[in-house]
Formats: sequence, structure tokens, C-alpha cells
Amino acid sequence: MRHLLSAADLDAGTANALLDTAERLKEALLGREVRKLPTLRGRTVVTMFYESSTRTRASFEIAGKWMSADVVNVSASGSAVSKGESLRDTALTLAAMGTDCVILRHPASGAAHRMSEWVGAHVVNAGDGMHEHPTQALLDAATLRERLGSLEGRRVTIVGDVLHSRVARSNVALLHTLGARVHLVAPPTLLPTGVTAWPVTIGHDLDAALPGSDAVMTLRVQEERMHGGFFPSAREYAIGYGLSEPRAARLPEHAVVLHPGPMLRGMEISAAVADSSRAAITSQVSNGVHVRMAVLYHLLASQEEES
Ligand code: ASP
Repeated sequence: MRHLLSAADLDAGTANALLDTAERLKEALLGREVRKLPTLRGRTVVTMFYESSTRTRASFEIAGKWMSADVVNVSASGSAVSKGESLRDTALTLAAMGTDCVILRHPASGAAHRMSEWVGAHVVNAGDGMHEHPTQALLDAATLRERLGSLEGRRVTIVGDVLHSRVARSNVALLHTLGARVHLVAPPTLLPTGVTAWPVTIGHDLDAALPGSDAVMTLRVQEERMHGGFFPSAREYAIGYGLSEPRAARLPEHAVVLHPGPMLRGMEISAAVADSSRAAITSQVSNGVHVRMAVLYHLLASQEEES
């Protein structure tokens, strides 16, 4: 693997290898007081975040540090980007300093692909606009594997703002590759044109979808990407598509609740459901670190070890 740009690029073999590595790393670090592996000593990882982030950015930084890489964080504000420098010039500048891996979050779909054409470093897409967020899909798959065992034949319902969600796009691709059946539930205004060509089933009735779901993934309503009214009000959205306590009670006993965060409690998901034992939201966050360690390992260390 040279870059990780899209979940759609991952075949089942590669995806499972990444998930297996993440699992092994998790086991290796479990209960250790000092979480430091020497694997990426002498390697430089740069995170470039042009959109806000808490989880993804911190998670990549921790992943790199736990493997002894030198991690440098660059954000749009406070860098030459705020002086008008282009993405390409910033990329070439960082590449000239000997960066081994660039982790890029950018509001434009395709930004990570462009970056991979400009620099010799490995590139990881940490979210490009509404397009993809492959490490989120991997950490979701890791969490589902942990809770449900194999994903083969499992039914995952993804509910909410599918239109603006890179999380949904990456998850649909990866879950399909891993043999799960994906059902999308959203208001018609929050489904992309062309969704009928995706490997999913589509509905608008969350209550009807829940009893047959092994997992339900609630998406954040991406207000920052909305220009215009996509639904009448937050209250009406919550009534139709929010995962309330009575709704969650319709899920089978074993079913898992996921949310990529940040959550809008009371709108997308009630506080009681988000904090319940069936919610795996904090596990998603911890698995995120191990999955990102696995990605860095496969990009930067595994070939070296083989040779
Ligand atoms: N944190 C995820 C992302 O960056 C989900 C979200 O923001 O809604 O795409």
C-alpha cells in the first residue's frame, strides 16, 4: 500500500490485514504503562488539517507518537496557508523537509489524491470534503468486528445526513467489501443523487429498519456544508431520524450503536442512548488510535521489515 486515499481502494485482503494489525497492536499495548513501540523511529509524519478536528487529528498524532515517529502538526490558521499559499506549495515545502507521510484533512473532495501526485511521501486522506474518510471506516469496522465478530452478512443501518457525509461514503464502500449489508435511512433531501447506484438499500423509516439491524450508525448533521434548508427544524429532524431511547429499544439485544462524533446530542442521538452500554462511541475513538497505528505501520514500516 503506497497511500490510503479512499476506502473504495481497499480490497477485503488489505482491509482485513489492516484490521488484524490494529487488533494485534491493541493487544500488544493493553495494560502497558509506557505505550511506546520503536517501529517508526526516525520517520517524520506531518498532519495537515485545513478543517477543524478533535478526534482524527489527536488520534493520528498519538498513533505516530506511540510508534516513536516524529509528528509535526500544521493547520491552515497559523501557517503560510493563512497568507495565501496554495496547497501544492505548502505540500512541496513540507516534502522538501523530508516528510515521510502526510496526513491531510481538507474541505475539497479529491485534495488527498492531488497531494499524492505532488509529493513523494505517503499520503493518508483524513477527510476530504464530502468525499471520503477511510480511517473512520476502518475504525468503525474494527469496532463492529470487536462487538459482533465477523461483518459477513451483518446488517448495518446508517442514518442521517448521508448527502454531506464522507463517513457514510467510506463506510458504504468498506462495509460492502467486508460482506456487510448496508441500509441507508435519511430524509430524501439528505440523500445524494446517484445513491441508487450504491451497494445499499434505502429507506426513510428508521423505526422499521431498527429491529433487523445488527448495528446503527448515526451521522452528524453537517450544518457547515449546508446552504439552504434541508429539513424544517432540528426538532422535526429529531422526531424523524433521531435515535431516541424508545427507538433504540426496537434494536435487537446484541445491536451496536455507533456515531463518528462530534455528536449533536438530543438531535441525532439522545444522551441516554449515547451513554448506554450498547453504544460503542468511546470504543470507536480508542480503536481509532490502533487503526491509525496500523495504517502508518503498513505504509511506513511493513515493506522495510519484509526486506
Ligand atoms: N468527524 C467526522 C468527520 O470529520 C464526522 C463529522 O464531522 O461529522 O467527517
